[in-house]
Order: sequence, then structure tokens, then C-alpha cells
Amino acid sequence: MQPIRYDLVTIDSLSLPGVEGSLADVAVLRLDKIHPVVSGNKIFKLKEYLATALTAGKKEIITFGGAWSNHIVATAAVCKSYGLSCTGYIRGEAPARWSSTLLEAQAYGMQLKFIDRETYRQQKRNIQTDHPETCVIPEGGFGIAGMQGASSIPGHFQGIPFTHICCAAGTGTMAAGLAVGVGNGEQIIAVSALKNNLQLAADIRSLTGESVVPPVLIHDYHFGGFAKYDTGLIRFMNDMYTATGIPTDFVYTAKLFYAIRDLIIKNHFPTGSRILLIHSGGLQGNSSLGKGTLIF
Ligand SMILES: *Cc1c(COP(=O)(O)O)cnc(C)c1O
Repeated sequence: MQPIRYDLVTIDSLSLPGVEGSLADVAVLRLDKIHPVVSGNKIFKLKEYLATALTAGKKEIITFGGAWSNHIVATAAVCKSYGLSCTGYIRGEAPARWSSTLLEAQAYGMQLKFIDRETYRQQKRNIQTDHPETCVIPEGGFGIAGMQGASSIPGHFQGIPFTHICCAAGTGTMAAGLAVGVGNGEQIIAVSALKNNLQLAADIRSLTGESVVPPVLIHDYHFGGFAKYDTGLIRFMNDMYTATGIPTDFVYTAKLFYAIRDLIIKNHFPTGSRILLIHSGGLQGNSSLGKGTLIF
């Protein structure tokens, strides 16, 4: 496995297509450069779980996810590098053709168990009691340990006076960690990748506690729902790549970049805003798109 390289993270100024010359100053934090698979926020969300597992002498990790889950493949890769064995419970029937995500997770040594949705729900609840000797990482790394890991992300932009920190949200663990980790009253804006996830605010609060200023949640850029997209989103991804050389994924980061660009055009941000977009990785999921859909 390629090494995890935090030193490759950069902050680059960004000229989003269609908003060139706008009054808002935009930059991007390239967490996607850390590793091709354990990319972006996943390594941050996993590291505290793994540190705890290793300290407690646990030898096995169990986690949960779907067939294209960035979290599943990232967990598989990190467990391999730490010499931990791991099992991934995959939601749904075993597909006739495995996704590239599942094949890659298996190649890293993850044992995969396909379970129907109802069993999946039950297992998520009961697994730790049934397997006390293992370290169970919740789906998507959601939990206090995941939040704590993500709270070290602001260390990568310490001392730079941003006013807004913008990220994509699935479980909201990264947004919670950012809210806890920022030191200068930066506003956190989280763009939900899910449709009508009305639980998100409460989920984030359950991780941050009441005393932390909650992220501002944006629910209007889900493009039909989780992992849904339309030709407009794909065109935006290709245009953005042409203009900036930055690849995005259609599940999370493309929706984030699209949303912030749209909000800039709609004058959502006050003059003088200094906006940082978190590129949280996840590019492996693009291989579920047909060949030729994306130009990168
Ligand atoms: C998993 C993932 C997210 C979502 O992170 P949460 O902490 O679950 O909100 C965002 N971006 C990318 C690229 C991801 O892979």
C-alpha cells in the first residue's frame, strides 16, 4: 500500500468556473492528495478508532457500508497497513459483479459479508455486544472517535484567516469535527449529500455537544438524493476539471463545489469573505460511472 502522506496536503487558491473575478476569495484544502484510497476525510475519521483498537490490543475491526463505500475501502486499506484483520458488512445481496470498491477492499484483505437490509440494521445495533473482542467502527466512521479524528483537520489551515469552511456531509462526522476543531470563529458550512436528511443537525450535535456553534447545513444540492446526479452535475465536474485541474467525485465533493459556486453567484457570502472548501477525496467512487462520462 502507498504510504499516507499528510505532507502532500496543499491549500490552493481556486477560480471556480463562472465566478471568476467575484468578490469572494476561494481556496481549496486538498485532503484528496493524502492517499488515492484512504483519501480525504476517511483517514482522519479512522485514526482515533484504530489508535484505540491498537492500545486495547484488539486484532480485528468490523465495519459497515454499501457496495461503493469510500469508508469500506479506506478501512480495508488502513487495517492492512496496521496489520489488523477486518470484516466489512455490506448492505444488500452479494452482487453478481462486484464493484471496483469491493474488489479493492477484498484485495486489501477485508473479509466481506453481504447481508440484507433488515439484518444489516440489527447487526449495526448488536454487533459490539456479540463480538466484544473486536473493534466495531460504525458506518461512515460516525461517532465521537471519528469526530475527534476530524477535529484535527483545521490543523492543516491553522493561522490562515478564513471566514467560512465548507465541506460535504454524509454522516456529518467531518462537519462535527471541523466545528469542534476550528479556533477562530470560522463558520462551518456543510452541504448534505443526502436528500432530506432531517437527522443531520441532531446527529452532528450528538457528536459536538451543546456548547459548540453548530455548522450551517445546506440541504438543497443533493441532486435527487445520495449518489444521484444529473447531466448538469457531470458537466460541472468536467468544466471544473478543465478550469482548475481538480477532480471531484459525484457523490460528495462535486455537490459541495457546485453548491458553493451557486451560493457565491447568489451573493450569499458577504464581501471580503475568505472561503475554504475541503476537498475530502472519495474519487474512487467515480468508477461506478460509465466510461467516458468524466474527462478525468
Ligand atoms: C465519506 C465522505 C464524506 C462524508 O463525510 P461525513 O463525515 O460522513 O459527513 C464527504 N466527502 C467524501 C469524499 C467522503 O468520502
